Amino acid sequence: GWCPRSTSEPSPKTRTTSGPGNSTLRAHSLRIQGSNGNEECLKRVCSAPQLGDQEKGSLLKRKLSVSDTEHCIVDNGSSKHKKQGRVVFLLLSSGLDPNDLECSLCMRLFYEPVTTPCGHTFCKNCLERCLDHTPQCPLCKESLKEYLASRKYMVTSILDMLIKQYLRDEYAERVKAHQEETRELSDLTKNVPIFVCTMAYPTVPCPLHVFEPRYRLMIRRCMDTGTRQFGMCINDPQKGFADYGCMLIIRSVHFLPDGRSVVDTIGGKRFRVLSRGMKDGYSTADIKHLEDTKVRNTRIQKLQDLHDAVYDQACVWFQNLKIRFHNQILQHFGPMPEREADIQATANGPAWCWWLLAVLPIDPRYQLSVLSMTSLRERLVKIQHILTYLQSIPNN
Ligand SMILES: [Zn+2]
Ligand SMILES: [Zn+2]
Repeated sequence: GWCPRSTSEPSPKTRTTSGPGNSTLRAHSLRIQGSNGNEECLKRVCSAPQLGDQEKGSLLKRKLSVSDTEHCIVDNGSSKHKKQGRVVFLLLSSGLDPNDLECSLCMRLFYEPVTTPCGHTFCKNCLERCLDHTPQCPLCKESLKEYLASRKYMVTSILDMLIKQYLRDEYAERVKAHQEETRELSDLTKNVPIFVCTMAYPTVPCPLHVFEPRYRLMIRRCMDTGTRQFGMCINDPQKGFADYGCMLIIRSVHFLPDGRSVVDTIGGKRFRVLSRGMKDGYSTADIKHLEDTKVRNTRIQKLQDLHDAVYDQACVWFQNLKIRFHNQILQHFGPMPEREADIQATANGPAWCWWLLAVLPIDPRYQLSVLSMTSLRERLVKIQHILTYLQSIPNN
């Protein structure tokens, strides 16, 4: 059809368990998970190396003085800052220990710590991943629907400052880890995220409704790393996804209050899948970009003639479409791209071929075979056959 693609329907999860000791947890304005009873049970086995006593001792010596704390509280009168002041106070009363500044979701030192309205603190990325699944605080299960809708995950600056100043080495290590992860996620040929959903084509817009938590994470990562790209492939029953696909470049993301999003993308490079993998629930692939083989000399004119003939045939087909289909296509894909001066100028050939392939009412497997071709001549011949077939059907 010609409707914007949707990923599978959202599965509404309503978790009703509130967990033991919730009222006790809520009694504090902000809890640093760690030493006291209720939260201890939430602390899973920590994979990070534990600090030796000597290191702990040196950290204690570096803790904030009380006057610094008071200064913070006096200077910042808002409730948010009062909460932050309380964090500092709690930290001071127990001594500054990196384990106290550990995210209960990733078990690492906070990175871009954000504090929820219920007073729990997590790394920004970690919290967002939880909210992909359910709009509740991962610790106390309090509803974070409004918090999610506002999309204002402000970094708890005083905590951030504390970490940067007083846990300098641990912070540097955490930043390094984060940068390495970002670098790995930014590679555009290795472990490229693959959205398994629909056919996509170079230069053709592809609007997507993103429901599934794994794809919410994928889109967010594409934005956070700055690549703003992911691969799009159709499903393959045997392999998981097809051998060929097209990169999609994110033009904009519109978030809905419940965390779903409408992502406006446009097709980029085509690719062939070299190997398949998985990352945090979504598919990945090592890929090789596809480029058309250029023809030279006397064959150029032949190609140009074929191109011109098929272009004219495509125009006729589109003009003769029933007005309803014609308008639907215009609405979703825009007008048919103009004839190009140099048909071999880009690695993907003329844009109108891709536009046409996207709007033609044919089987995706057929579209896939055309996508995989690296010869413009072959592509034009295939399109010619399809058009001739469609035009032979009465009342088309
Ligand atoms: Zn975390
Ligand atoms: Zn909470």
